[in-house]
Amino acid sequence: MNRAARNEIETFMHGLERRNPGEPEFQQAVREVAETLIPFTLDHSEYRNAQILERMTEPDRAIIFRVTWQDDSGQIRANRAWRVQFNNSIGPYKGGMRFHPSVTLSVLKFLGFEQIFKNSLTGLPMGGAKGGSNFNPKGKSDNEIMRFCQSLMTGLHRYIGDDIDVPAGDIGVGAREISYLFGQYKRLENRFNGILTGKGLEFGGSLVRTEATGYGAIYFMENMLNYRGDSVAGKIATVSGSGNVALYAIEKLNHFGATVVTASDSGGFIHDPAGIDAEKLAWLKDLKEHRRGRISEYADHFGCEYHEGERPWRVPCELAVPCATQNELSGEDARTLIGQGVVSVSEGANMPTELDGVNAFRSAGVLFAPAKAANAGGVAVSGLEQSQNALRISWSREEVNERLRTIMGDIHGKCVQYGTEYGATKGSVDYVAGANIGGFIKVADAMLAYGAV
Ligand code: NDP
Repeated sequence: MNRAARNEIETFMHGLERRNPGEPEFQQAVREVAETLIPFTLDHSEYRNAQILERMTEPDRAIIFRVTWQDDSGQIRANRAWRVQFNNSIGPYKGGMRFHPSVTLSVLKFLGFEQIFKNSLTGLPMGGAKGGSNFNPKGKSDNEIMRFCQSLMTGLHRYIGDDIDVPAGDIGVGAREISYLFGQYKRLENRFNGILTGKGLEFGGSLVRTEATGYGAIYFMENMLNYRGDSVAGKIATVSGSGNVALYAIEKLNHFGATVVTASDSGGFIHDPAGIDAEKLAWLKDLKEHRRGRISEYADHFGCEYHEGERPWRVPCELAVPCATQNELSGEDARTLIGQGVVSVSEGANMPTELDGVNAFRSAGVLFAPAKAANAGGVAVSGLEQSQNALRISWSREEVNERLRTIMGDIHGKCVQYGTEYGATKGSVDYVAGANIGGFIKVADAMLAYGAV
């Protein structure tokens, strides 16, 4: 990178950090984008003159509200909730809701900002948003979860709508929570419409939505490997997490003939060198989706190793798929993986790799799929759920899966196009640059067309 571009990035980031103090996750997400976008905008003065990146890093609005609810012992509890409506230039706001004690405005701004690019890459008309609460669903009864969701929707319902903002699930928000939220919206508004995605199949949900993010991350990985004349088949894979994204990433890796040897949760990871095959995966799904148990129980049940308080990145593998949370794979982890011969990394989670790790993978020539591209399958099928709701029809499993595969292939195509032209290393595909530039152009062109709004 030349000196002018470097100076421009540092000046831009200095201003952003000054305007957004105490928001490390948001600053990290913007820096990752600025590193590849600013050199691009230096060659495209129309975007610079219209201050597109400055405007894109400022949310349209952030709504903050209190959620008061009563626990099973009769105690009154209060949590904080947010909805960050970041950018609706190419469609209504769209993005998940996260319930986790680590949720802050900074975390939701990083997620909402990334969502703008991700949604644009899908080719569907969706703007970027994110929301959630510092509520901890762990250990809560179904009734407590219901009361919390009903109270949250009472605060949120006036700000959302099928042509305004359509939330979905994320960490801590699965089928159960979406059902409670939708039930309360319907009661308050007396309207049955597609204001949330990830709904149950009985009330407007789409087939393959549950599987979409995990499947999509592996479709993308297969696309990258195929483009290099290789494939997922026969390779050893490590996966982190054991939630929605991880379980279906493992399932698709199995379909494609890989052997998945790890899974984790916030307590630690299991190492099963024989592989988490279909039978063991069915057991794990039941543990996590129905019994809400811990990953250590897998090790007890199947007699393999459990490493408490650790992440799986020192286990040798050719494929690595981080599917738990942000910043779960450090620069040191990346160098360990590279040293052990990792060929491809696909980010199922959002921003799981620290910037140092991203750059290590890029310079080592690892096929690295950033979250914006790799995990876009979830929101893509959410977009398909919205289309089915608007048309009042339901597509078959095969049809939705085929559309998902096509969308992931198209996103790969965009990354190849822009990542070859503008990537740091000539002659190879820089998927980070490709996803950032490919996602940026459509939104930026819409913003240019609108003028100063
Ligand atoms: P889930 O709540 O279903 O699962 C999250 C998994 O990650 C659990 O195994 C959880 O363990 C683990 N985890 C969460 N926080 C931490 C932590 N701080 N340290 C270690 N492990 C942790 O969430 P999802 O699978 O839906 O989401 C996972 C990631 O994928 C997130 O980054 C999310 O933003 C991203 N994503 C999700 C999409 C979706 O469709 N669901 C779409 C696109 C991205 P434990 O149970 O012990 O907390």
